[in-house]
Amino acid sequence: MHDDTRSPFHAYLKELHGRFRGLDAGAVADYIPELAKAAPESFGIAFATIDGHVYSTGDSTTAFSIQSVSKPFAYGGALERLGASEVLRKVGVEPTGEAFNSIVLDQQNNRPFNPMVNAGAIAVSALAEGDTHEDRIEGMRALFSGFAGRSLDIDEAVFRSEAETGHRNRAIAYLMLNTGMIDRPPEEVLDLYFRQCALRVTAEDLALMGATLANNGVNPRSGQRMLAPEHVRDVLTLMMSCGMYDYAGEWSYDVGLPAKSGVSGAVLAVLPGQLSIAIWSPPLDAIGNSVRGVATCRQISQDFGLHLFMNAASVEEVVRRIAHADRQSSLRIRNPRERDLLASHGGRIALVELQGALYFASAERMIRQLQPLAAEVDYLILDTRRLNSLDPAAEAFVDRFLAGTRDEGVEIAVAEIASRPADAAAALDRLADRNGLRRFDTADAALETYEEMLLEKIREPFDFSRFSLSTIELFKGLDDAQLKHVEAVIQPMQFEAGDRILRRGAEGHMFFVIARGTVSVLVPTGSETAMRIGCIGPGQFFGEMAVLEGGARSADIVADERTICYGLTADHLETLGHQDPRILSTILTNMAREFAGRIRRGNDIISALQ
Ligand code: GLU
Repeated sequence: MHDDTRSPFHAYLKELHGRFRGLDAGAVADYIPELAKAAPESFGIAFATIDGHVYSTGDSTTAFSIQSVSKPFAYGGALERLGASEVLRKVGVEPTGEAFNSIVLDQQNNRPFNPMVNAGAIAVSALAEGDTHEDRIEGMRALFSGFAGRSLDIDEAVFRSEAETGHRNRAIAYLMLNTGMIDRPPEEVLDLYFRQCALRVTAEDLALMGATLANNGVNPRSGQRMLAPEHVRDVLTLMMSCGMYDYAGEWSYDVGLPAKSGVSGAVLAVLPGQLSIAIWSPPLDAIGNSVRGVATCRQISQDFGLHLFMNAASVEEVVRRIAHADRQSSLRIRNPRERDLLASHGGRIALVELQGALYFASAERMIRQLQPLAAEVDYLILDTRRLNSLDPAAEAFVDRFLAGTRDEGVEIAVAEIASRPADAAAALDRLADRNGLRRFDTADAALETYEEMLLEKIREPFDFSRFSLSTIELFKGLDDAQLKHVEAVIQPMQFEAGDRILRRGAEGHMFFVIARGTVSVLVPTGSETAMRIGCIGPGQFFGEMAVLEGGARSADIVADERTICYGLTADHLETLGHQDPRILSTILTNMAREFAGRIRRGNDIISALQ
């Protein structure tokens, strides 16, 4: 368990608490008699993160009635059940310059101005669903419990106190009955509304309810989706414009966070995508906001620059690195000729490492970087190993970019989709499906495949008639007459990719010199796939061990591609020795030089390993 008392966040909250505890301006609301009983020195602060961690200090677990902080949540619930257009028919979205409990409706539509003032919230209560009044109360309680992540109950004393004295709200309800904005018995609607205001919560509960909004509508503890993202957006918009009574304009200007306050002294502010802040302290200023609540929020926003419009985060760099296969090739062992070919043509393969989050602005920048690159290459590999998210805007633009690039004949691969977070993987899968992209587990596998495809395109066709044995190292130093003798005995052979040329354990009498192509040396590992311990290319030879020692083959040799070899047996060597002893001595000297080189390389590896 994380020890919060050691956390710098906890230390910061304690500091704030100490700093504003002494602020004793304001007065506890007394128009609802039961509220007047609150202790003015009560003061709790809680932060909740979008993964459900709560930091708190002071009276953060003392229960109080939620009052108007319930309004955004009840509104969200109505949007979720009925959809925005249905709810809009009964309650508007305009801030009012009037008091929270004013008895005025928007003259044009006869609607309450917005759901954050009493009239609007009562109209929202009239939209409650359920066959009986009890069902509707239970539905309301369940909704709020879902936001808080625990079962909430109603403070009966506060409820009764308001029900007995809330005549102004009664007047509002009857006025709306008159204009057709509510179509249920007003007393029943008010009963529900007063109960909603009397729900008992703590600052920690409110913080978690706010974290559900910050977390795009999903309660971070229970994982329950309470609101669809578009309804979270609607709720936060109204909190921003109308959440702080008549102080909403100044609040947006100074603090810049969507928030809601209530007459019991609670203030809840939300920083979308990051955290929520809940403060409870009963004394209110003349406008009806908690004095310590406003001061604390203002301080937090200033300390961390949390004002939504100040936080002009710079656009993330999504392209981490661009490499080309002429400078960075796959891990596959290549012979010198292939290495040369890749060094001169590998620029046609680009490997792009992506990182972070793709959203409108970062996708725009990425596409602007990749478009000129895509125009220059034949193969494009997108390594998504460090890419964590792709939003719908990014997906739409990346889709167009990929379709255009593919239409210009570029082969495109995506690597590491499966290792991505589920949402990002799903978006990448859709992009790959729609644009026929090849998927690879790793960027290296994609690189190797595209190197092979490129090499296949650029390797020159082999012409036996123009191939001279003198270009092979093993026959260096032989004159034309001697080469003619060699040519007469050796056997040219051709193998296709995957052909097994030698089998481990088999008897062997012939060794091979490669004229063109490459072969792999494979040894068994105990599992199904053999281990590739080396790769032999043009000019090099293999299979000589069994011939020299007269034993069995020590490894499998498999052609990697179409390979042309010349085979020589011990008998051939003997024949050549009879014809001209210098042929044999030259070949054996060349062979000895190659062995010396192998031993030196082996020694280098051994010393490098130490
Ligand atoms: N129940 C209170 C009322 O309707 C809520 C007011 C508030 O918190 O703004 O008067």
